[in-house]
Amino acid sequence: MGGGSGGREEAGIFAGARSQASPVKRQPAVASEPVTSQNDAHGRADWIADENWSAGMRAEVCTVKVLATADIHQRRGKLDSLAAAVSKEDPDVVALNGGTLAVGGTYQHQVSVAECAQRLANLAACDLVIVRGNHEDENWNQFLVAWPIKSRRLTLLHGSCFHHGPLVVLGFPCLLGDQVPFEDSIGTVVVETPPPLLDRPAEIDTWLPKIIHAHGPASRALWLMHEPPSGTPLSTPFGPVSGNPEWVGAIARFSPQLVLCGHDHVTPMKNRHWHCRIHDTLCVNVGQDDSDALCFAVVEMTFPRRTACLPTKTVVRAYPWGESATLLPDPRL
Ligand SMILES: [Zn+2]
Repeated sequence: MGGGSGGREEAGIFAGARSQASPVKRQPAVASEPVTSQNDAHGRADWIADENWSAGMRAEVCTVKVLATADIHQRRGKLDSLAAAVSKEDPDVVALNGGTLAVGGTYQHQVSVAECAQRLANLAACDLVIVRGNHEDENWNQFLVAWPIKSRRLTLLHGSCFHHGPLVVLGFPCLLGDQVPFEDSIGTVVVETPPPLLDRPAEIDTWLPKIIHAHGPASRALWLMHEPPSGTPLSTPFGPVSGNPEWVGAIARFSPQLVLCGHDHVTPMKNRHWHCRIHDTLCVNVGQDDSDALCFAVVEMTFPRRTACLPTKTVVRAYPWGESATLLPDPRL
């Protein structure tokens, strides 16, 4: 959706690239810099403006913007806020990190499953990516029936990767609830992503190394997981929303640059932490509070070329916190 053009009609592997040029031969040298929290991400020195760069190399630089949220749970107010946020931010990709639906009936403040599907299909973003949460259960079948598949592409991630220009997004399964309706829909009704059947999703050795091997180092750019990695200020220490130690092991082993999670709606607000670090990885909880205002993150990633690669700069802006974190990873890692 570069330049504010309507992204819906764009298609193909380079749909998200915001510059037009052929692949670059090498990456620039970039000094390692830690994650910092700040209110104005635009005040930092920007390596893209380095005068040592040739004009050709600068032309290769492109950005991809992702708007990510979780735990909408068919809530009318959250869906209204999401539509407004997407309209304002003009992202290339909208990522719904689980908890899109709500099990246990529909209440007054919620829309039906069918209306939820229709509202999401109407979002003005090039790509919509959905990761399963524990509330995506049998109701997922109703969602798919209502989804306008002929006119709106939908990408489901379930232990699999999605490419948008140079960005590779890896979506995790959810260990809670019934994954069968969601899993069965991948590769059948919904377009995109070969269907990896995850018999033992908690055992990351059975699927994660294969995915990373298949998609290469670029698959460490952005991981989406509904349940948080456990043992951080982003989730409660005990109980069903505490998260998964298996995800901590996966992060420690593969060092993704950025992990987005949800599921625990309370602890980030209580602890006043919307992000934390696990080793070199920045983790962000994009789950909701009880208000109609949307908790979400806008992730702007800058890539040195237009083919799949790791970003050299990532800025995460968090709402309603009004804060940002900038990630300048060492490209040698
Ligand atoms: Zn959940």
